[in-house]
Amino acid sequence: MKKFFYFLLLVLLVLIVVVLVRTFSATSKQVEVAQAPPVPVSDSAIVHLQKAIQFKTISTEAGTADTAAFNGFRAFLQQAFPLVHQHCQLEIISGQSMLFYWKGIDANIKPIILVGHYDVVPVEEESLPLWKADPFAGAIIGDSIYGRGAVDDKGSVMAILEAIEQLLRENYQPQGDVYLAFGHDEEATGQQGAKVLVPLLKQRGINPAFVLDEGGLVTAKEIPGVTKPVALVGIAEKGYVTVDLSINIPGGHSSMPAKETAIDQMSKALLRLKENPFPADLNHTINAFMDYMGPEMPFVQRMAFANRWLFSPLIKNIYSSRPGPDAMIRTTTAPTIVHSGVKENVIPTVANATVNFRTLPGTTVDDVVKHMKEVIDDDRVTIKARSNNSSPQAVADVNDHFFTYLQQCIRSWRNDVVVSPYLVLGATDGRYYTELTPNVFRFIPFNDVKGFHGTDERVGVDEYKKGIAFYYGLLRNWKGGSGR
Ligand SMILES: [Zn+2]
Repeated sequence: MKKFFYFLLLVLLVLIVVVLVRTFSATSKQVEVAQAPPVPVSDSAIVHLQKAIQFKTISTEAGTADTAAFNGFRAFLQQAFPLVHQHCQLEIISGQSMLFYWKGIDANIKPIILVGHYDVVPVEEESLPLWKADPFAGAIIGDSIYGRGAVDDKGSVMAILEAIEQLLRENYQPQGDVYLAFGHDEEATGQQGAKVLVPLLKQRGINPAFVLDEGGLVTAKEIPGVTKPVALVGIAEKGYVTVDLSINIPGGHSSMPAKETAIDQMSKALLRLKENPFPADLNHTINAFMDYMGPEMPFVQRMAFANRWLFSPLIKNIYSSRPGPDAMIRTTTAPTIVHSGVKENVIPTVANATVNFRTLPGTTVDDVVKHMKEVIDDDRVTIKARSNNSSPQAVADVNDHFFTYLQQCIRSWRNDVVVSPYLVLGATDGRYYTELTPNVFRFIPFNDVKGFHGTDERVGVDEYKKGIAFYYGLLRNWKGGSGR
């Protein structure tokens, strides 16, 4: 008995030693670089962004609504960025999307592609009184520029153009080719923009070193236990899979209901989906996140992240308890539309439902349908995936030279931030670009303020100027390099 106790004690001691060794050997993955010198940014940049917001380039599900606003925006760019238009070739795709080509000195250097979009989501009528400023006025209140698109994503498009205009003022020519691809329908799934643009680039044999699109931002206080701001760089994004369900059971008069009706069975199907979610999975992207964030965290989190072999059930439990973190570790299931019935005393024959899944890299549209069939387990329910679904599988490699380059750019731009890879939960145009390279990074150099797609979208005046400096440095320091 005593022997057994000593044996247990020994096992426990070994376990503690292993856990501690692993905890303390997980050292910081942040690169040390010198701070970049300040970049001259004129106040006209602020006026430009204010003006950009005033064009109501609103995307609707059916496509772009106000053609004049889109044309007006592009005409305004010509006037605001004369050097860009003089030195870069501009091609218009699908009548509205823009592809700029800035020729580099050395044709042997792989090109880079900076991606953005200049369409915006609408402002809900009911939310208008809640805005501090007219969402399409571009007003400055306090130290911020307010308006739809200030961050997502006119802020990024305009900052990229400001950076290049400034580089051209300095007679700078890039080492390698640079493409700017600005979509006009990202908020309506990019069907006419990125989805058309990318095959065109592919057909032309353009093989970029990396692509930088919107996605992560600099967040503060979003990550529990981390006091420094964190620049989240998306290395992959979740897939977007919508599936329609339908069931047909002859109805009848509601005074004599059958044992099973279309509504009953559809309700059961939806309940089964809810009760049988996709399993939690500490996938590659969340592992990369923990590798980078772990060493920056307080002891307990650091220990858990460094010892996933032991703590992964605990991590999964904690992550599963809140919607945001939960979405990082599993393919989510969300019924979004239910429809059946026309009259209060008639049992409907048909019930329809729509379920929206956001898939982890590694899960395909077919996997979703298979999971649904198994879980619903009722042959009468037809399950049909929509044709515009996408489940992008590509994950950029954080051990690659290009991620390191981006990390250096971010750290020399702001050495107070910690850089970490992560999984983008929403869909971006970036997913189309994975056809060209797996190195699609998703990051914009602004702070994560609330207001994306919601009320009071805004960017700080100084912060916006700083964002321009980020793109300036990224373009100026790029000298090629080979990935793995
Ligand atoms: Zn966006």
